[in-house]
Amino acid sequence: MTTDQDDSRQVVVRLDDVHKEYGEAKALDGMSLTVHAGDAVAVMGPSGCGKSTLLNMVAGLDRPASGTVQVHGQDLGKLNETGLALFRRRHIGMIFQFFNLIDDLPALDNVALAAQLTGTPARQARRRALELLDELGVADRRDVYPAALSGGERQRVAVARALMNRPALLLADEPTGALDSRSGEQVMDLLIDLNQIGQTLLIVTHDQHLATRCADRLVEMADGHVVRESSLEPAP
Ligand code: ADP
Repeated sequence: MTTDQDDSRQVVVRLDDVHKEYGEAKALDGMSLTVHAGDAVAVMGPSGCGKSTLLNMVAGLDRPASGTVQVHGQDLGKLNETGLALFRRRHIGMIFQFFNLIDDLPALDNVALAAQLTGTPARQARRRALELLDELGVADRRDVYPAALSGGERQRVAVARALMNRPALLLADEPTGALDSRSGEQVMDLLIDLNQIGQTLLIVTHDQHLATRCADRLVEMADGHVVRESSLEPAP
């Protein structure tokens, strides 16, 4: 829904006519998208339509051939590689289908590391990590290594890690794709709770149920650009 009031909200993501090719494949072909602070946006579309490329652009992991990508007021095209890495660590949280936790670190250290990498002293980082694990209901698993955690616990730890630096934007790539339905529902509840306290979400998924439950706006992509946008009813 677009109203004058909505337009005055802070823009967290703006892609403007972004193009990206890989050889013959046009991964993004005129992709434009605006996400405002507090939005929960689900991006759906067939395999190969450019969803992962979109997430990579927004995370500053890939650069457009043409067009601009702005996140949290920063034109990512103006940052060099080091600048992009710092920007990503400070302002973007990411969660993935397969969690991407570090196997050799227990849960608490996996989470604390995200803040230590931005220069937060270890003690302070560990204190905040523990608070987050507590809020996400996995504080009792803080000394456990990823291999011994359930899928749902791993994703909670990964969400805690993503939130460590209070990111302007939380990106999620099939966040429930590797979970059984009960754990998946719990992670969806978590995403809804986070959005309700103001966290901006951009979720890429094949799962209509996840999109309907967690997002207030659905962006449908095909052939590297948006073909339809619609608002979704809030979950009951
Ligand atoms: P989706 O996430 O919707 O499945 P992708 O963004 O992964 O789509 O891919 C869009 C298109 O770009 C596809 O045709 C894919 O094969 C191609 N593509 C994406 N990344 C690469 C890459 N690193 N090298 C070559 N082709 C790629």
